[in-house]
Amino acid sequence: KNYQKNEIREIIQKENVQFIRLQFSDVFGVIKNVEVPTSQLGKVLANNLMFDGSSIEGFVRIEESDMYLYPDLSTFMIFPWSADEHSGKVARFIADVYTVDRKPFAGDPRSNLKVWLRKMEAQGFKAFNLGTEPEFFLLKMDENGQPRMELNDQGGYFDLAPLDLGENTRREIVLEMEKMGFEVEAAHHEVAPGQHEVDFKYADALEAADNIQTFKLIVKTIARKHGLYATFLPKPLTGINGNGMHVNMSLFNMDGNVFFDEKDEVQLSQTAYHFLGGILEHAAAFTAVTNPTVNSYKRLTPGFEAPVYVAWSGSNRSPMVRVPAARGNSTRLELRSVDPTANPYTAFAMILAAGLDGVQRELTPNHAVDRNIYLMDETERKKAGITDLPDTLLAALDNLEADQLMRDALGKHLYETFEAAKRVEYRSYRQNVSQWELDTYLQQY
Ligand code: ADP
Ligand code: GLU
Ligand code: MG
Ligand code: MG
Repeated sequence: KNYQKNEIREIIQKENVQFIRLQFSDVFGVIKNVEVPTSQLGKVLANNLMFDGSSIEGFVRIEESDMYLYPDLSTFMIFPWSADEHSGKVARFIADVYTVDRKPFAGDPRSNLKVWLRKMEAQGFKAFNLGTEPEFFLLKMDENGQPRMELNDQGGYFDLAPLDLGENTRREIVLEMEKMGFEVEAAHHEVAPGQHEVDFKYADALEAADNIQTFKLIVKTIARKHGLYATFLPKPLTGINGNGMHVNMSLFNMDGNVFFDEKDEVQLSQTAYHFLGGILEHAAAFTAVTNPTVNSYKRLTPGFEAPVYVAWSGSNRSPMVRVPAARGNSTRLELRSVDPTANPYTAFAMILAAGLDGVQRELTPNHAVDRNIYLMDETERKKAGITDLPDTLLAALDNLEADQLMRDALGKHLYETFEAAKRVEYRSYRQNVSQWELDTYLQQY
């Protein structure tokens, strides 16, 4: 909703809001908060709230640490669950980060996404619509609020209670989401035991990214209330399905969905094919951002409904991109590789930049693969032009390093902090001796 400043002042007074939280995300997609009492509202609305950027990882050095937060008024909301009569309510804004010279900060993932949305507009489009399908596990929690590696239920896909003990939690999540303005389209138990999914209505990229951040906060908060621990980790348990975050996307102009073409044989427009061509072309590079943890690559393995190969299909779910059957304004591409550890702002900027590059260069994708890729051997895959997704974080980072357009999609500041931090992370993982190695080798040698 597009609030005016005086509307916000009125709501805050009427609802007895006592604290205002300004939220933004660091390069890893971790939400950061600055909270001030309502007496500071004037300062907040005048874009004069300062914070110390040097304490945020990947932001700035100590010498240039003062930064401003500019609240995005359309993101204003009051948290429903903190309403307890003694402490008053907490409201939040999502904010953009500005430098001390009042310029959008290049290391702010949200500002960077806006840069790419402006480029999209310059190419004649109005909106990049995104509908995501984030999956998560509900684990049991111990007395100290720490997760136990024990699932909350033994249910399966679309199961109902009493098998699905997470059902009450999931229902409450949906209700809280609705209170906060989400339009929830579906919520169900996923394939793995203890695994759930909640789908909400698509929105333009910026709002879609904000929504993911808010969604994760709601899920974790409500799960905790039920004594459960929610995790979006891509592969928490060996041998069962992981957590994906499929990204459904479409480009709109003034007249509606430009991916739809009534006259085409499968009713997909040339723009849709070109955009898809760009996605396939840059997939190996943007995977570093859409699948940014060591654990992400344990999910991208055959046999668990997660993709392993760069290919697309009109019907089956083994390739990286699927074109769901819906047409008209619902015509869309579904990118199935993304997982919920991705920073939604940087991930969406990468995907958009890749697709727009395809449109600009009029790239044409290889033929659709309408059979199960896992049953094809290497020669068959090669003949069909199917390549592999990177199978480690290291391989993905090397692909990103080699793809100038994808580096530009992050901008220099975000790219450099991301890549340096992720290489350190990978090195630390490589140096760690795992339980698997001990189990497999210790007694053999
Ligand atoms: P699946 O069949 O893969 O489970 P769902 O039907 O659960 O997919 O999810 C569909 C998602 O796609 C929803 O978030 C929905 O809002 C979104 N969606 C629908 N139309 C569009 C569109 N034109 N552009 C982008 N996303 C869309
Ligand atoms: N959990 C699967 C994944 O890792 C996706 C299942 C589905 O198709 O919804 O991507
Ligand atoms: Mg799913
Ligand atoms: Mg899906």
